[in-house]
Amino acid sequence: MTRKGEILIMNIHEYQAKALFSQYKIPVPRGGVAFSAEEAATVADGLDSPVCVVKAQIHAGGRGKAGGVKLAKKKEDVSDIAKELLGKILVTHQTGPEGKEVKKLLIEEGVDIAKELYVSWVADRGTGTVVLIASTEGGMDIEEVAEKSPEKLVKLSVDPIFGYQPYQGRSVAFKLALPKEVIGQWAALLGNLYRFFVEKGATQIEVNPLIITRQNALIAIDAKVNFDDTTLFRNGDIRNLRDLDEEDPLETRATEHGLNYIKLDGQIGCMVNGAGLAMSTMDVIQLAGGAPANFLDVGGGASEETVKQAFQILLSDPNVKGVFVNIFGGIVRCGRIAGGIINAAKETSLNVPLVVRLEGTHAKEAKEMLNESGLNLIVADTLWDGAQKIVAAVKK
Ligand code: GDP
Ligand code: MG
Repeated sequence: MTRKGEILIMNIHEYQAKALFSQYKIPVPRGGVAFSAEEAATVADGLDSPVCVVKAQIHAGGRGKAGGVKLAKKKEDVSDIAKELLGKILVTHQTGPEGKEVKKLLIEEGVDIAKELYVSWVADRGTGTVVLIASTEGGMDIEEVAEKSPEKLVKLSVDPIFGYQPYQGRSVAFKLALPKEVIGQWAALLGNLYRFFVEKGATQIEVNPLIITRQNALIAIDAKVNFDDTTLFRNGDIRNLRDLDEEDPLETRATEHGLNYIKLDGQIGCMVNGAGLAMSTMDVIQLAGGAPANFLDVGGGASEETVKQAFQILLSDPNVKGVFVNIFGGIVRCGRIAGGIINAAKETSLNVPLVVRLEGTHAKEAKEMLNESGLNLIVADTLWDGAQKIVAAVKK
């Protein structure tokens, strides 16, 4: 999962997105996924065309420019290209400087490209519509097109109540001056992508490039899809596509324990219960001159074990230079939280300052437990007091 603004999104791989495209009758090249060079050669053998494309499967775009998309002029070359790509750390403009390790490949039939188009459907939360962005300048330089010649991007807003209508797609095709032979396919393809978007709870579907072949057929040769995590409960097929290999291991561990954890780039690890309190804690830390290292909501009914896990997750992040626990004991009694903190701190070597603010049911008993634990921690009385104390402790 990754955070995008105020929502969590789930990414999938290109090969998974293309399998879904096929279900929705969106044309894609024939191909298959491979986890080893031998598998890659086997997939290539089963394809009709002599030319194959070998594509690194990572949760990031910009692979072409980074050397993650290779053309094999003959099938015999696929195995060598696969050997070269598997295990490689690919650094693209979307991976960050640390890059991503290539663990799987998509092997596809090469297609004969006459023109590369750009198409994307994206949820626009501002207007509550689904927006189509299309351009005839598709391919690897779309970011540059958006920046330098935005007039080459055609946009269309679709009200989800009415849904996409083919005439809308045709009007975009005319604006883009697409060849008349492809207009029917284009309007239908956009409708299929739209239906996929809505039925599967996507936040964005990007096809870059959608190509026009020399025979005037439209084929999606790249596919990038993100889903809104709040829709995953109703789409088990999508939920199962989650690839934990591509995610931050701490976030995965948190999910396993029912914790809502998102890594951020500050230095103060926060453990809070309730999303609202977590948000305000992050705000108040900033106000006090610090920066949160994460968002962590242990939930309303946190057990001693959950608290322990949460604590260990916070401390495994090397960026964390101090921990601030801010918990309101409503359903969960403060004593249980204090117990969890004490156990976790004893098991993990706590070598950063810890500030704890507990309020609510059995807060007094909990404070006594903490004070008597012999742990090196600072007890705070209010949120503001706690935020100031942790910021000061980290600065020291
Ligand atoms: P991205 O760089 O991560 O967006 O990866 P893409 O899947 O978009 O591939 C990058 C580029 O490789 C595309 O823009 C195409 O120009 C090229 N490419 C991908 N598949 C094929 C293919 O089957 N045949 C040819 N000739 N080029 C391809
Ligand atoms: Mg692409």
